Amino acid sequence: MTTQNIQIGIDLGTTNSEIAFNRNGSVEIVKNVLGDEYTPSVFGVNKAKNIEVGKPAYQKLYGEESQHYKAEVKRLMGTADTVHFSRLDKDMTAEEISAEILKSLKSDVLRKYPEANASAAVITVPAYFSTLQAEATKRAGELAGFKHVVLLQEPIAAAMAYGFNNAKNETWLIYDLGGGTFDIALISSQDGMLSVLGHNGDNFLGGKNFDWVIVDKIIVPKLLEQFALKDFSRANKDAAVQSMFAKLKRIAETAKIMLSQEAKTTLEIDIGKDDEQKDIYLTIDFSRKEFEKLIEPFITQTIDLTLDTIKEAGVKKTAVSKIILVGGPTQIPYVRERLEGALNIPIDSSVDPLTVVARGACIFASGQRVPQDLMEEKKERSNGTKEIVLHYEPMTAETESLVTGIIKDLEEDIDGYYVQIQSESGYYNSSKVKVKNGKFFDTLSLEQNKTNLFWIYLFDKKGNSIPLYPDSFSITHGLTIAGAPIPHTVGVSILDKGSLLSGVPVEKFDSFIEKGSILPAKKTKTYQTARKLVKNDTVNKLLIKVLEGDSEDPNNNDYVCELGIKGADLPHDLPEGTDIDVTISINESRELSVEYYISSVDISGNARATIRDEVIDTERIGRELNLQKVRLEKNKAVYSDEDKKKIEEEISTLETSLKNSGADEDEKRKANKQLKTLKTKMEKLEKGKEMPQLISDFNDKYQDTLSMVDNFSEIKSREKNLEHLEVLKKEGDKAITNNDKVLLARVNAQLFELGARIVLNTQQTLAYMFDKMSNGEEKFSNQQEAEYFIDKGRQAIKDNDPDELKRCVQNLMSLLSADSQRKISSNLAGITTK
Ligand code: ADP
Ligand code: MG
Repeated sequence: MTTQNIQIGIDLGTTNSEIAFNRNGSVEIVKNVLGDEYTPSVFGVNKAKNIEVGKPAYQKLYGEESQHYKAEVKRLMGTADTVHFSRLDKDMTAEEISAEILKSLKSDVLRKYPEANASAAVITVPAYFSTLQAEATKRAGELAGFKHVVLLQEPIAAAMAYGFNNAKNETWLIYDLGGGTFDIALISSQDGMLSVLGHNGDNFLGGKNFDWVIVDKIIVPKLLEQFALKDFSRANKDAAVQSMFAKLKRIAETAKIMLSQEAKTTLEIDIGKDDEQKDIYLTIDFSRKEFEKLIEPFITQTIDLTLDTIKEAGVKKTAVSKIILVGGPTQIPYVRERLEGALNIPIDSSVDPLTVVARGACIFASGQRVPQDLMEEKKERSNGTKEIVLHYEPMTAETESLVTGIIKDLEEDIDGYYVQIQSESGYYNSSKVKVKNGKFFDTLSLEQNKTNLFWIYLFDKKGNSIPLYPDSFSITHGLTIAGAPIPHTVGVSILDKGSLLSGVPVEKFDSFIEKGSILPAKKTKTYQTARKLVKNDTVNKLLIKVLEGDSEDPNNNDYVCELGIKGADLPHDLPEGTDIDVTISINESRELSVEYYISSVDISGNARATIRDEVIDTERIGRELNLQKVRLEKNKAVYSDEDKKKIEEEISTLETSLKNSGADEDEKRKANKQLKTLKTKMEKLEKGKEMPQLISDFNDKYQDTLSMVDNFSEIKSREKNLEHLEVLKKEGDKAITNNDKVLLARVNAQLFELGARIVLNTQQTLAYMFDKMSNGEEKFSNQQEAEYFIDKGRQAIKDNDPDELKRCVQNLMSLLSADSQRKISSNLAGITTK
């Protein structure tokens, strides 16, 4: 059979992956060689230097060879991070590793169905995936040999798996708690049309967190109590310690899964020897109730996000007719109880939560066509086979559907040929349809709520059958989906020159394609160049930065790519203020491209500079986190007690992530994401303020900042800072006169940032000077006194107390010779401004 529709749907999961195959209209989850419907998303290299994927790799993940195996690579998708495989002497990216997992799934299908068309596939991604993550997934599919890859969001796939049997007018929640990600989506189906009303998610919440909390809160405290274990923490990079923690995680996971069935279990810990060579052996009784208490905050978080999603979509809770459960952890009884209690919406888990996404992806696939050129590539035609090009709607809510076809070879023939179309089930059987000048059409009757497979036969006038390519196609009746919606607003960063804050340029996020838009989408906007671009200048580029996210402040959004316009391309200098058209387009598979066009010189460009995620600097995150704490304190009048508590909780989880980020790249990304979310949230809360509040904020902030300029500015930058402050003061006064809330809020944010920058620069400077003086190389006139200030200074850095640090640095300086003082100060120049 050579069908025109995509036959393969894949759920490429963080923890497990599944593949579904559509054979003659029926969807089957294809089992792997071991007979399992799911394959652990684990990749590694064995002793013989052969690649291993799936369960065998998963089993080695926790043994002696753990350093040769890698799990949860989906979390690295779209980043520049690589994983080193010493047995291959090779660094691999997330997409290369994912490609190996995809190849293994593909081979499971081809083993069972050698005739399958494996040139195309639908692959699912979490709804919350960024553009870079989605694009990397698509590349993984291509690396695995799928020439045509269509991406579909997991919750939509799940809805399709359910909606397929139930095409009523309804609104559903898709609650997907996986091994590493949580996604909540509100989906409605109206007259067979599926749409996403809203969604939320957390890329860093899943079953894995439950395993770790068992390790951290139950197992580790007992181990520390009973055994000699120095530096025993997850942050310790030592291989032996890491391997012990890997074993503990496995023990915790097994217990967790047991507790979905049983009320009690025993954690049996047998993980090697402690520092005194004593065997670490221990059993701990662990009950479902204890487990529930541990995961309570995580589940509450998912429920909060669920309620937010309903609220944001403007839908009444009673209008949601069911919650569909997706993902392994939804088998935990407590999850269901909490959902029922908090939402009072019936739960449906009738389709296996582990394979529902792949099933839905496959149903969606059957409504997608394999591109014509790929069909041609695949053909192995016997002599005389005629090629046919078919036109039809592969997915429809109508019960009748038009199909037209062109048989090129027969364009010259006047008459005599005819086709017949038959559905696999026998539901539809056409009469003889004449082929005129190679063309024909027919109206098909569809069986409702299923994929209808049609066979098409060609006969000559004598009634001889003539082979056709392709010889079948399918039309899915039931839900239709116009296309996948995008999860984040995409836009550019623009320089907001003087319009708001005279003379002080501020970067602002300007939206192009709104969150929820159906793909493909495209938009062009006209801007002006922000500064002069000199012909032949190869260094200074005019940057177009593409970002995605919900914040007005570009720094809080995620970076997608940038495009630099170089002077080298110009026929003459380009003055400031030249019109420039910027176009952003995103295709069905979330691939984003950006183009510019400058009509005055007829120059355009579309290069994509980056395909990788930003580099994450934990020091910066730490500094920014401290700033947010100060900000919360300064603005505390704005926050309700409840909001304040929430923000404080977020700050504290961020601190934990930051602490763990030393050994764990994943925690690093988590911290980065949390910081952005935190800042966006604070921005929103602060913006909701009323005028009198804003005025009082303005006055306070002005005074604060003025004293910071006086106390902290280096002499060099003092003038500049004062000047900047005065501009802001004027703007603020103007905003108050004009009763302009938006402008005043903006000025306040700017005041805060100015103050923060002064302190931050000073802090960096002080910290640098302190470092130089405390490294033991300097001779102080009074060593004892110096040590006293060094200790105090260290504490001041820990406490984030710039005043105290400043005093210590001044005191230490006074204990140094003039020569040493000069040496330390001269090194400063390069690092004072960032
Ligand atoms: P992903 O979508 O991230 O690949 P899955 O939906 O496959 O994740 O879920 C994997 C997670 O589900 C793992 O953390 C696993 O421990 C957990 N899990 C699987 N079965 C159960 C169960 N019966 N009870 C609780 N957790 C389970
Ligand atoms: Mg999943």
